[in-house]
Amino acid sequence: MILSNLTAPEVAERVGPSTVVVQPIGATEQHGPHLPLCADALVIEGVASRLEQVADIALLPTLAYGKSNEHEWCPGTIVLSTTTLIGVLTDIGRSVHRMGARTLVFLNGHGGNNAVLSTVARDLHVELGLFTYVVHPFLAYVGTSTIDPLDFHAGHSETSVVMHLAPHLVHPDRATANMPDAPGRHVGLEGTVDMGWTSREFGDGSGTIGDPTAAGEADGEKIMDQMVRYAADCITEIAAHASTR
Ligand SMILES: [Zn+2]
Repeated sequence: MILSNLTAPEVAERVGPSTVVVQPIGATEQHGPHLPLCADALVIEGVASRLEQVADIALLPTLAYGKSNEHEWCPGTIVLSTTTLIGVLTDIGRSVHRMGARTLVFLNGHGGNNAVLSTVARDLHVELGLFTYVVHPFLAYVGTSTIDPLDFHAGHSETSVVMHLAPHLVHPDRATANMPDAPGRHVGLEGTVDMGWTSREFGDGSGTIGDPTAAGEADGEKIMDQMVRYAADCITEIAAHASTR
């Protein structure tokens, strides 16, 4: 169910301890010269809206802003600071707890949110006993592209999915590949060593990190299906897990 479409008495009646409340979160940030700022919010809302078949979930409105300071050099990017995002997510968790639900899932569409979401999930659990989980649907396809081995930001997969969901917002003629070399074995965008970085520090500084030049709608549809299946599986497992806690 879509929580904000209900009336308040309906929420009191239908949201209870077995309900899994899902908060989709994206970003409004640069996605190279070929994708719209809304890419992450659009994709995660697309995944969320296809989860209605999962039993007893309540979908919250998509949070279209996130922690995007790695892209703040680029106009159009809207940045919530770390402390602001922690505050917003904590307040959402407290509100969910007050309505009688015991389980909250952050459905995340933007990698820059990861660390904050993990921190808030732990804090909400300790503060309120709220069972809080973080699901990253893009993990269902990251590293699986044979066309774009990097596929990090505005690359093949992301561009294909936006072509599938909103083709009128994509400019394939402006898409170029940017495939920076990994600086070391452990150090790099996908290395095991964590580091602070901004998206213009890699390769040509276009903001794209990957190769979107062969992206297509059909691939986007397949990736979307994979993400929805993965997210539905995760939420089903979460509901079962939470019921034993
Ligand atoms: Zn993105």
